[in-house]
Amino acid sequence: MLITCPYCGPRDVSEFTYQGDGNRQRPAPNSQNLDAWNEYVYDRLNPAGDHNEIWQHSGGCRIHLRVVRNTLTHAVSSAVAVRGHHGGKP
Ligand SMILES: [Zn+2]
Repeated sequence: MLITCPYCGPRDVSEFTYQGDGNRQRPAPNSQNLDAWNEYVYDRLNPAGDHNEIWQHSGGCRIHLRVVRNTLTHAVSSAVAVRGHHGGKP
């Protein structure tokens, strides 16, 4: 599987680290909505098809990427830099 880093170009997936589901919305830190926290911590999507994921180019420029990967074929249709994500550059 290849992921095209916007800075480094196409690279093997072994250079990247999966950072998690890109669909989750973290509740406000002072939120006491336990259902929202439970959903954030435990609930995961498991689609058969395109899935939004966060990956880090840990073996390269270390930028965080928002990747759309097809879970059936592992085809990557999109990989863009995450703005404002911890460790993201632009
Ligand atoms: Zn890179």
